[in-house]
Amino acid sequence: MIINWNDIDTVLLDMDGTILDRHFDDHFWLEHVPQRWSQRNHTTIEYAKEHLYSLFRSQENTLNWTDLDYWSDRLKLDIPVLKREIEHLIAVHPYVIEFLLFLKHSGKAVWLVTNAHSKTLDLKMKNTRIGPYFDGTISAHQVGLPKEDVRFWGKLQDYINYDPERTMLGEDSEANLTTAQSFSIRFLIYISRYSSKIEPRQSEHFTTIDYFNQLIPEKGSSCVTIL
Ligand SMILES: [Mg+2]
Repeated sequence: MIINWNDIDTVLLDMDGTILDRHFDDHFWLEHVPQRWSQRNHTTIEYAKEHLYSLFRSQENTLNWTDLDYWSDRLKLDIPVLKREIEHLIAVHPYVIEFLLFLKHSGKAVWLVTNAHSKTLDLKMKNTRIGPYFDGTISAHQVGLPKEDVRFWGKLQDYINYDPERTMLGEDSEANLTTAQSFSIRFLIYISRYSSKIEPRQSEHFTTIDYFNQLIPEKGSSCVTIL
């Protein structure tokens, strides 16, 4: 795929996994929460994992999935406090700042568009200080629909004035890229190295990059080629 930046006005970027290392989130939900839950309920860690993983699966693709208040209430744990216990794992992926600077210098509108809850967003912005690189942030909780819902991208236009034909979306979720595709967002980029702990894998459906430096053109050029 050849991308000519002259064809793009707006860049929408997902947060967890796309610009931030998803190791934090994976470790939080798969290890840290089960550990604290098992201590509180006097169970084995194995039982806690089995029980919690099936609870998590039951809320996949819904707004509850990322709603910290929902999980605090459901699990009887203070989820924001538990997140702060491992906040040292929150990290920006390599080349993200360089890419955001390139976008700023090129005069693109850049929006963080995330399913994350406002409490997660606050914690991550405080730890990474990447907020000022964006024109703004939209949480799916404001929109009232998760990005997995095909109606999301149309409803997003109530918040951001964007032309799908001249917009790029970067995501580590192929489900979200698929709903964006059905709304005819033209430049869809899958981020394969969503966690520093996984082996990246090419998407079968979408243009794939490991890192954002692959989208920054050489000086004097407006085009990049992604193999
Ligand atoms: Mg993500």
